[in-house]
Amino acid sequence: MTIHNDIEEIVFTKEELQDKVQQLGEELSREYKDKYPLVVCILKGGSMFMTDLIKEMDIYLDIDFMDLASYHGGTESTNDVKILKDLSQSVKDRHVLFVEDIIDTGRTLEFLIKLFKTRQAASVDIVTLLNKPSRRLVDVDVKWTGFDIPDSFAVGYGLDYQEKYRNLPYIGVLKDEAINLS
Ligand code: 5GP
Repeated sequence: MTIHNDIEEIVFTKEELQDKVQQLGEELSREYKDKYPLVVCILKGGSMFMTDLIKEMDIYLDIDFMDLASYHGGTESTNDVKILKDLSQSVKDRHVLFVEDIIDTGRTLEFLIKLFKTRQAASVDIVTLLNKPSRRLVDVDVKWTGFDIPDSFAVGYGLDYQEKYRNLPYIGVLKDEAINLS
């Protein structure tokens, strides 16, 4: 039994991900050259994307990590985001780049952008590997996107289902029988 057996379909192969990460890294290097950005990984899903991405950025940069928990209330329109782990440095006058695995409703990033504006960051922008435009509930300006995907639940390359499958080297969709049984 291997974890690969739980996958119904590979959506993006390891090679497709590598090519996209390289392309995004080159674009970001051009954008942030001479800006000494603070690259902030949103844990845990953004971790694999972040470590690969910064290897493709040939510029001076700092990294840091944030962990957040979202509590969706009784209806889709109520939401609260709690900081589980905050940054270990000030962002005042820094160019901040958030690295996300996937943007779904957009609420997590809406919360972060507002927060970092009050913390007086010089700029706040987002790079996300995956984007689900059809699921968006709040309007967030996402400057760099790897791939748009339809509304299916993706796992692998940092993305989990019940904390599993983050270590898959590709992005895939689970078989029905792997859901709730794994
Ligand atoms: P939102 O944009 O709704 O605030 O939340 C984005 C977060 O929801 C992501 O960082 C991720 O943790 C989770 N998420 C949304 N869609 C998916 C998906 O297709 N697969 C996985 N594994 N997590 C998802």
